[in-house]
Parts: sequence; structure tokens; C-alpha cells
Amino acid sequence: MVVDYHTHNFLCKHADGEIEEYILRAIDRGLNEIGCSDHSPMPNNFDAQHRMTEEQFYSFYKPAVLELRQKYKGRISVKFALEGDFFPGTEEWVKNFNAQHSFDYVIGSVHYLGEWGFDNPIFVHKYEERDIDETYELYYDHIRRSAQSRLFDILGHCDLVKKFGHRPTRTMEEVLHESFKAVKAADMAVEINTAGLRKPVKEIYPSEQILQIIREYNIPLTLGSDAHTPGDVGRDFDLARQLVEKYGSGKISVFTNRERSEIRIS
Ligand SMILES: [Zn+2]
Ligand SMILES: [Zn+2]
Repeated sequence: MVVDYHTHNFLCKHADGEIEEYILRAIDRGLNEIGCSDHSPMPNNFDAQHRMTEEQFYSFYKPAVLELRQKYKGRISVKFALEGDFFPGTEEWVKNFNAQHSFDYVIGSVHYLGEWGFDNPIFVHKYEERDIDETYELYYDHIRRSAQSRLFDILGHCDLVKKFGHRPTRTMEEVLHESFKAVKAADMAVEINTAGLRKPVKEIYPSEQILQIIREYNIPLTLGSDAHTPGDVGRDFDLARQLVEKYGSGKISVFTNRERSEIRIS
């Protein structure tokens, strides 16, 4: 059994393709489950240039995913999900929003440090304006807090801060342990996200150094391509599979109605 739990679509305005095209590609690739997990709207439609609006969630995203889930029943299991943002100050809003819908799971991702969308190529120059070690520490501090918020089921691309190839000069061992202890306590799964291979860093999220810590704490894994175009669904999953064997005893987590269970990857 294989799943791709991290896919986007045109609604977030920085991905292309209809939801159905992602599903059809997943069927082509022989996947058993596909998660529709586009970027969640944010309160007051914050960063609406890179997110669906709340209005679009209600009028299009939710009904479309639920309808496609029915349409493809028996061919592939379509999961109704979101990639949410951990953004301090929005926790109550996210909690209420997520409680109102019957998501199969919600991915929790850190994409902002303050107002800085640090994974957005248009703001990459800001890495040079800050101390890189402080940027990394702040990022992992947000990862820890995202787990402690108990808002999310899956930790998204958990070393995204490396996306453009910037590396810390100090060891991050201590903050990493604090973060992943919190992830374990929250019973979250961590996704192996293959999108990093397609970015300047050219490395899967997370690194093997982090996967070793994840194994040490016995944190469950799951899989996502983070496809922003239908052709990327299930991309580089051979490598992801090897990592699941090595760091997750060959098992991945799957979700229904926000309940986690484990299956053997094949
Ligand atoms: Zn995106
Ligand atoms: Zn993301």
C-alpha cells in the first residue's frame, strides 16, 4: 500500500491543475490513497495571494473533494485534508475552523517566521539579512510549538528552512531533540516529503540526520510529494520508500476522520 498525502491544486494560486487531475495521476501511479491537502485559508484571508480564500473553501474546495471522493470510490481512496499553517496568534481560529469540517487529517506546516514567508522565492534575499543560526533556531522553535498546539496530525516538510540551501553554522542537535520530543508527545506523524529534491537544496525533507532522531523517538512516518503540478504526484517515491524501510520499520501512517493507523508500505 502506498499513499501520497500532500498535494495542491490551482486554488492556492501557486500550483496548477484541477483536483481531479491529481487524482487521475495518482491512479496512474498505482497509489492506494491520495490526500487532497491544499493550503488552508487563513484568518482574515492573510496571504490570499498564496492561499485559497475562505469563500473558495466553502463554495468550491470542500464540495469538490467530497464529490470526487464518491466518484472515485473503489478505484482510489481520496482523502479530504488541508495543509494548515502554524502561525502564532491564529491557533484559536485554526482550531475552530478545523473542528467545523470532517477532515481526514490536517498537515501542520511552518511557512512563516513572523510575517516572513521564508520559503517563498520572492523573499529569499531575507536569509542574508539575518543570522542563519537564529533563523534555524526560530524555525525549530516554531516546529516545537506547532506540535504543542495539538492542532495538526502530520508535521509537514519539517526542515523546510533548508529549501534554498542555507545551512546553519552551529549544531542544531538540542533544538531538534526538543522539537521531536514534542512531536512524539502529540502523536503526530512526520511526512517524508519529496519536494525538496526539486528545490535548490536538492534534498528530501527531512534529512537523514533528522530521520535518525525521528527513529530514536519512534515517531511514525507518512508520505507526500507536495505536488504543485499533477505530474509530481508520487514523484521520487522509490527513495521515500527506502527511507520508510530504514527509519520507519517499513510502516506508514494513514488517516481517516483524524484517526491514525499504521500500514505496511509496499
Ligand atoms: Zn504551496
Ligand atoms: Zn508547505
